[in-house]
Amino acid sequence: MDYQKVSSLAKRRGFFQPASEPYGGLAGFFDYGPVGVKFRERILRVWKRHYVLGLGCLELDGALVGPEDLFKASGHLSEFDDPLVECKECSKNYRADQLVEGGSGMAREELAEVLKSTLCPSCEGELSELSAFNLMFATQVGAGRGTKGYLRPETAQSIFQCFPWLYRLNRNKMPLAVSQIGRSYRNEISPRQGLLRMREFTQMEVEHFFLPKDEPSVPTHLGKISLVLVPNEGEVLEIDIESAVKKGVIGSALVGTHLAAAQAFLQSVGIPKESLRWRQHRKDEMAHYSQDCWDGEIKTSIGWIEVVGVAHRGDYDLRSHGTSSGNEFRVPIPGTSKTVERWGLNVGALGKAFQSKAGEIQKSVSEMELAPGMKVLLDGEEISLGEEFFKKETNQESEMVYPCVVEPSFGLDRLFYSILETTWKEDGERQWLSLPRVVSPYDVLIAPLMTKDGLAEKAKDVCNMLLENGIDVFYDESGSIGRRYARADEIGIFHSITIDYESLEDDTVTVRERDSTEQKRMSISSLKDLF
Ligand code: AMP
Repeated sequence: MDYQKVSSLAKRRGFFQPASEPYGGLAGFFDYGPVGVKFRERILRVWKRHYVLGLGCLELDGALVGPEDLFKASGHLSEFDDPLVECKECSKNYRADQLVEGGSGMAREELAEVLKSTLCPSCEGELSELSAFNLMFATQVGAGRGTKGYLRPETAQSIFQCFPWLYRLNRNKMPLAVSQIGRSYRNEISPRQGLLRMREFTQMEVEHFFLPKDEPSVPTHLGKISLVLVPNEGEVLEIDIESAVKKGVIGSALVGTHLAAAQAFLQSVGIPKESLRWRQHRKDEMAHYSQDCWDGEIKTSIGWIEVVGVAHRGDYDLRSHGTSSGNEFRVPIPGTSKTVERWGLNVGALGKAFQSKAGEIQKSVSEMELAPGMKVLLDGEEISLGEEFFKKETNQESEMVYPCVVEPSFGLDRLFYSILETTWKEDGERQWLSLPRVVSPYDVLIAPLMTKDGLAEKAKDVCNMLLENGIDVFYDESGSIGRRYARADEIGIFHSITIDYESLEDDTVTVRERDSTEQKRMSISSLKDLF
């Protein structure tokens, strides 16, 4: 299976097609069709089972647009860019690191140097100087001049800016894992290869927060999962997570946990173990927020493609939002609570002495350490506040810290594509998607042999009975039975049920299994046990 075949299958069977087709398409945008929507739902359901139920994540569905200040704080406004060059002759734009061999591993200065001797691949014209192109889509919120906003470039920022709220909802407890599924937007310079580099795509992310000195260890059920690691130094190795963490190949236990969890999830949706590896980022490749990052890569006809990144983001994000917004993004360190005596203002005494000016004094000292004798400006004159304007206050205070975070970030669209490629099977004339049942777009095909003589009605009765039992049916009455089986095979439906004349007499049907094509006769009443 290759990229062209996946695209034609996708179009033929209703998985996806380029968006705005009648208008010539809009590069980097796609529409998911009836089968694609079901397939996405199934992948998401398995993901939620692994992460929301399995890890106990709190779920969030954040807004797609955020204000400029949010993306200033996150670093995306200044750092989230790709190197751009333009042809001076034909005005074509190129992502500079894709124009030269080995460009993705080059520092910007080195890239700029190499580009001096590179010509436009399209017209051989001279290229412009290298510039940085910010990948965020800007928009204006509201009428008139409005407020500048941006479509989020990663779902993660929705979680980070909600952290104080989510922490409270978690009853002020750490660690705290939050998951989110949603669209992200990146104005890619050259979106390519369908679902692999899009401008609008869906991410499935978890932000797993923990106290810096209290990192959760690898849970026993994940410890023995073995995976292929490609560290940024040293040999490729196959190793179980527990040992990889113990030996220091993976520097953080929580990163290890998420590598194992991701491997288990990817295998459960049909990615073969031998098509999966974990590549550690080089230091110069890491995103601006990242301390360590491992990409989950799947082998496809195009090469190894990254479908998930597991990044240790340290406390970068919460610290940035804490300092930029002025809100409290830190949490208390348990066991550090102590009684602290501090001076507070004696508001009554201030009011009596300064009357209408008391409020002004209160405001001017609000950000200062309070103590008798402190100086404040009142009507341009410096005055000293005596002890009578203060009182002793006793508080319980803890040492505060910004939590760290480990993030597995999956791209649903790339995974969607990879599953289609890796589960495609051909045997002579026959072609089918050998999908695990959990991600098959439908549970079963229901096909009446003919539409006449009450067969269609009988088939619909079977449909309703299965639907009532929570089974997703795909009803198809057009074309020969062979063609209907072939269509169902290409969608990856595991079971097909045919209703024929015998069914009218004895309430039995033929059940065919996708991979083996074996057929057996079963009574209608026993069907629901199949699923
Ligand atoms: P990143 O934040 O760049 O580490 O991306 C996290 C995940 O989102 C990647 O592993 C991809 O699966 C997915 N992703 C990132 N950029 C794109 C894109 N332009 N098109 C489709 N998927 C993407």
